[in-house]
Amino acid sequence: MRADTNSPSDADLDRMWPPDEAQGKVRSLTPLLTVEQVSLRTAVGRYLAANIVAVEDHPPFAAATMDGYAVIAEDASPWREVIAEQMAGGAIAATVTEGTAVRITTGAPIPCGANAVVPVEETEAADDHIVIHQERTVPGANIRPIGSDLRRGDPVLRAGTPLGPAEIGILAGQGLVPVAVRRRPRVSIVSTGDELVEPDRPLGPGQVRDSNRFSLEAAVSETGAETVWSGRAPDILADLRHVLTERIAASDVVITTGGVSMGQLDLVKPLLSELATVHFRRLFLKPGKPLNFATTEAALIFGVPGNPVSALVSFELFIRPALLMMAGAADIDRPRVQVQLDAPLTAGDRIEFQRAMVFTDETGLLHASSTGAQQSSRLSSFLGANALLIIVPRAEPYAAGERVEALLLGAPAGAAS
Ligand code: AMP
Ligand code: MG
Repeated sequence: MRADTNSPSDADLDRMWPPDEAQGKVRSLTPLLTVEQVSLRTAVGRYLAANIVAVEDHPPFAAATMDGYAVIAEDASPWREVIAEQMAGGAIAATVTEGTAVRITTGAPIPCGANAVVPVEETEAADDHIVIHQERTVPGANIRPIGSDLRRGDPVLRAGTPLGPAEIGILAGQGLVPVAVRRRPRVSIVSTGDELVEPDRPLGPGQVRDSNRFSLEAAVSETGAETVWSGRAPDILADLRHVLTERIAASDVVITTGGVSMGQLDLVKPLLSELATVHFRRLFLKPGKPLNFATTEAALIFGVPGNPVSALVSFELFIRPALLMMAGAADIDRPRVQVQLDAPLTAGDRIEFQRAMVFTDETGLLHASSTGAQQSSRLSSFLGANALLIIVPRAEPYAAGERVEALLLGAPAGAAS
């Protein structure tokens, strides 16, 4: 059960919520999805459901790290009789004694009695003997000890870790298959607006192409969640009601775009009040002021504004963390850093998340330069942006050289040349 499904009062709905309070509300209502077992081949990008402890020593036996001869290091004579051959993938019965050696390949188990491997390059073979050229052989040389990578019982991976190539390799090496991960969030994306046409259609008078559905689907996919449905709904109450009812029933998360402002055909807002419990719908935030957040017993619904930048900023601040949290990710927050402004900025009347390019200078200091005009309709302000600057309202402008807080969406670029 959710912590809070009571309907908020009208006063609570109509006040301007600070973004961090709204984020806290979303988190408090975000469920953790159930656990499922998946094969390693389908595990990339999923989040571990439980801590992983090594169940075996790895490597499971002491092995040669070079092709050569297994010997007793302290044996003074350069001559050795080669008594057997040990290849990778088996274990012979021979025991190495003074004056003897076993020919060995990389990855093969060290035979009894031996405590070093002399690389083949340091030897000369003659009949059934070898002569060792190197002056000294150190005990343990060219041997990878048992458990030198992982010891049985070692904590290896924490619950909530995203599975990438190294993690999947470790699980395979430990024989931990299948792996327990959280279910992927099922997301539906509904674009509203009678002016919208598909990207492959020519534009008629007053029409724009639906870009939000595609940018949002890409953003969903980057979190590892799955878009199970995406489509357009007209600005007609009955039709929109039908689509929303169906999508809410079939999804963990429904994202609608458009229709949450004050216009005559802004139908999402009244429909969310009818179909779900609305928790907030006005934010002290720019862009993204009219973001509507509602829940039902089984779904989170985000009604994001239609302007393309507002849609993506809303996704970044509210939807991405919710999707990651549902999927069981340990790390759901973007890094927050202090950056130095390269040019002056004017503060708005709400907390503003401005798109910027952050880079590191030669001294390691982080600088930010703006991506240009910041209107919520100007999607190109997101191009090249690797950060959102958090610009808090104040009377005087921000000066060049001042420091502000930023959310890092990607790694800072290297020093500008
Ligand atoms: P709305 O939030 O419905 O009032 O829309 C605000 C602005 O965003 C309008 O200029 C819309 O044409 C535009 N818009 C709405 N939805 C989309 C969309 N899916 N793709 C691109 N632009 C959109
Ligand atoms: Mg609209």
